[in-house]
Amino acid sequence: MLRNIFLTLLYPVIFCAFTSFKAAPGTIKHARQHKLKTIIIDAGHGGPDEGAVGEYSNEADITLAIALKLGKLLEDSLPDCKIVYTRKDHDLPGGLMDHNVANRLRAKIANENHGDLFIAIHVNDSNHPYKKDIVGHKQETYYTGKGKKRKKHTRTVPIIRYTKLPATVTGTQTYIWAVGKNDKKIEAVNGQEEDMFGLGEKVDSTFQYFDSPEAKILASLRTQKYFNNSLLVAGYVQDEIANTSRRSWGVFQRDWEGIWVLQATAMPSILVETGFICTPSEEEYLNSEKGQNEMTNCIYNAVIRYRQNIEGGR
Ligand SMILES: [Zn+2]
Repeated sequence: MLRNIFLTLLYPVIFCAFTSFKAAPGTIKHARQHKLKTIIIDAGHGGPDEGAVGEYSNEADITLAIALKLGKLLEDSLPDCKIVYTRKDHDLPGGLMDHNVANRLRAKIANENHGDLFIAIHVNDSNHPYKKDIVGHKQETYYTGKGKKRKKHTRTVPIIRYTKLPATVTGTQTYIWAVGKNDKKIEAVNGQEEDMFGLGEKVDSTFQYFDSPEAKILASLRTQKYFNNSLLVAGYVQDEIANTSRRSWGVFQRDWEGIWVLQATAMPSILVETGFICTPSEEEYLNSEKGQNEMTNCIYNAVIRYRQNIEGGR
């Protein structure tokens, strides 16, 4: 769930990202290189953190169902690829009770497994519209003046009842890390931030090497590549959604407020907001086999297209 989605649309950047990946004319085709060796699948929320809630279901259960389906599909079709899950049951990662600590563990799992792609799966929410009805009237007492001039008055005021209406917003969005969090991503890529996961662990002494200016430049360049690759795979996800009957919102990037796991993972990273649980038809879709399978297939197809692109295969 991501509230306040006032976002920067990145279609022009996507266009650049896509065009930059086209092979130049006359380029010699290289044999397939396995660049996508490890994929991290992160089912959002879990345990005491149920995420967004609908009329009869919650985000944590839906994200887990889609994550497991996606992982199974990838394991079956890409036997050379290692699939790592941040959680495979209804608990938060590591059985933790605090969702903030669990978020740090999600990134730690991704980085320690040297993931080549991080896919977070979430379910969206939005503010519900309200209906305003006058259901009666009541007398209200109020006072004017001070001391001896103080006077008591009564007036009739309406009794208003607000009724929450079902939302009508539908569709799928994919996020990459926030514009303002690029430096944080570089730090994650460089691996130099002391105890960045807040788990009370000392950074491995071998990381001291990464303090050099050369290492920082390298991390910055690598982060730029991860940005392009994140846009590429995010664009593929939305492209696949557009091939269904669902609304494809496109790829989004917030200006400043980050989605922590996206900036803390030292790899290309995306977050798919699969649908809006606040909308009855969407809640039904997200809980159905058809909906979960369709969403799974869209993300799966995007990963396969991304792999073909970066590995140069067909
Ligand atoms: Zn969420």
